[in-house]
Amino acid sequence: MKIACVNCGQAYPDSGVPYKCPSCGGLYDYVEPLAFGEANRSVSLGEGNTPLLSAKIFDCEVYFKCEYLDPTGSFKDRGTATLVSFLRSRGVTEAIEDSSGNAGASFAAYAARAGIKARVYVPDSASGPKRKQIEAYGAEMIPVPGPRSKASEAVIQAAEAGMVYASHAYLPFNLPGYATCAHEIYEQLGCGPGAVIVPAGQGGFLLGMARGFEALLRADKIQKMPMMVGVQASACAPLYDLWKTGTMDDVQEYPTIAEGVRNRWPVRAEAVVEIMRRSGGRFVSVDEAFILSGRDALARLGFYVEPTSALVWRVLEESISDLPDPVVVVLTGSGLKYLS
Ligand SMILES: [Zn+2]
Repeated sequence: MKIACVNCGQAYPDSGVPYKCPSCGGLYDYVEPLAFGEANRSVSLGEGNTPLLSAKIFDCEVYFKCEYLDPTGSFKDRGTATLVSFLRSRGVTEAIEDSSGNAGASFAAYAARAGIKARVYVPDSASGPKRKQIEAYGAEMIPVPGPRSKASEAVIQAAEAGMVYASHAYLPFNLPGYATCAHEIYEQLGCGPGAVIVPAGQGGFLLGMARGFEALLRADKIQKMPMMVGVQASACAPLYDLWKTGTMDDVQEYPTIAEGVRNRWPVRAEAVVEIMRRSGGRFVSVDEAFILSGRDALARLGFYVEPTSALVWRVLEESISDLPDPVVVVLTGSGLKYLS
C-alpha cells in the first residue's frame, strides 16, 4: 500500500525508516483507504482473536472486546505486530521508541521476537509493572523525569542523531493492525456494531479501528459506520478539546491515573477528530474521581483492567441508553500492569 507525506505528498522512500518527511517534517500516512483483511503480520506473538463477551449493564446488553488479553497485556500488540513486521522488512537491527508503558512493553516484546535491539524512553512516573515488563524482554530502558512530553523530546533528539525511531505515534504502520480489531468485532457479532467506545490518548487505536470499519463499509459487509466514542481523562484531554472547541492550545497536562491516555499533543489529532465526526461520534472527558470506581465495576463483572481502560465505564453510566445497539466497549489494557 502506498504511503506519502500528508503535507507535501512525497512518497515514503523504498529504503530506510524516516519517522517524518525529511523534506517538510510532515506526517506519513496511507494514500489509499485500507482494504478488508489487509495486514502484514510476518512478526507475530499470536495477537488478536480476543474474546467478545456480553454482559447486562444498566438493563442494556453490552459487548466487551477483551484486548487486555493480547500477548503483552494490551491492544498495542495488534499495531506493534504490523509495525515491527515493517521494520524487519527494512532490515532494521536496532530501534528506539517512547511510551508511557503499554506501547513500550509491546515494542520490547515484538523487537525481541524479531531479533531487533530495542531502547525505550519512558516517563519517570510510568507504573512499575510496565517498566519491569519492558526490561524483562531485554530492551534498554531510559527513564525520563517530568511529564510524558519530556520522554517524547528525548526520543526525538536520539532520532535526529540517526537512530531508527519506531514511533507508534508518527509512523502509520500500526494502523492496519488496529483495523483488524474492527474486522474481528464484525465477525464475532455477525453484524456491524452501533457504537464503539474506546479510550484515546494519541487516538491511533480509534483511528485504525474506524478505518477498519470504513473498509467493511466499502466491502459491503456493513451498511453504516458505527458511532465511535473516544474517551479521555479530563486531566489531559486534547482530542476532546479539539473536537469541542476547534483548538488544542489551551489544554492542560495534569497527572492522571489513566496514564495510558495522557498525551498532550496527539500527532494525528486532526485525522482522529475528522473520522470521529464522520462516524457521528463524539469525545467524552472523564473526571479523575470516576476512574477507579469504573475499574472496580468492571472487575466485579470479571474484567480486570488498568485504570486507563476503565474510563469507558463512565460513558456507560452516563449515556448507555442513548447509544445505538449493539454497543461494543473495548477493554484496552490489563489490570495486572497497575499496582495501587
Ligand atoms: Zn513532506
